[in-house]
Amino acid sequence: MVDIILLGGPGAGKGTQGELMAEWLPLPRVSSGDLFRANLSQETELGKQAKVYMDRGELVPDEITIGMVADRISEPDCANGVVFDGFPRTVAQAEALDDLLADMGRQVNAVLNIEVSEDVLLERLAGRWTCSQCGEIYHRLFSPEKVEGVCDKCGGALYQREDDNRETQLRRIRVYQEQTSPLQDYYQEKGVLVDIDGEQSPEAVAAEIREAVQPLLV
Ligand code: ADP
Ligand code: ADP
Ligand code: ZN
Repeated sequence: MVDIILLGGPGAGKGTQGELMAEWLPLPRVSSGDLFRANLSQETELGKQAKVYMDRGELVPDEITIGMVADRISEPDCANGVVFDGFPRTVAQAEALDDLLADMGRQVNAVLNIEVSEDVLLERLAGRWTCSQCGEIYHRLFSPEKVEGVCDKCGGALYQREDDNRETQLRRIRVYQEQTSPLQDYYQEKGVLVDIDGEQSPEAVAAEIREAVQPLLV
């Protein structure tokens, strides 16, 4: 049983690494951003509430976010652990997650802090394309699809996220620095923070993560 958090700015590679980890562990990857986008496309009440904040590049309020993630991790497939991607993003969310996991007799085992400079974050966000069907993540320059606009895995159409425009990107990076980066200290104090050099190839980042996570698997 292992619960792992992927921490890092927008574009750091959380989704890319989270997918790889989910396969080899194997554990479900729970991405709060993906959960919000699913609610958006299904036009749920929660989706409507979240959209205002997402369009601005701001955080969705804690109550909404925590409730949504709490529901998700109470599902049976999350019983043996979770790879958290993009959650928690505030200290209040981190405290809520500690309580939720404690109720299940679990705790955060590792926080992988994927370090990437601001310039590289912007470069990555600018070229990000995502599959509309399976969610696979591509990059125009760094990991392009084989046939332009078509997902290698499932044949779905690729799209650029609406919030991946320059203004919102800069906003999200600032929000990360102000509201999310304090989680580094929060988890450092708990002794679970592991710094990962995010400015390497996806394979090299994955190898560093594997080395950090392997000892936790008994
Ligand atoms: P990125 O991959 O660029 O880091 P995400 O897909 O994780 O972005 O998140 C997209 C947007 O969804 C955020 O800008 C924010 O509005 C909302 N969001 C996602 N996760 C959270 C969270 N844990 N708390 C509040 N808002 C969130
Ligand atoms: P996050 O979930 O943290 O916002 P993503 O996993 O969506 O980040 O990655 C953002 C963009 O950067 C995507 O286009 C992805 O293909 C690309 N990317 C991810 N990891 C790397 C890497 N190590 N080197 C180069 N590009 C990367
Ligand atoms: Zn696909």
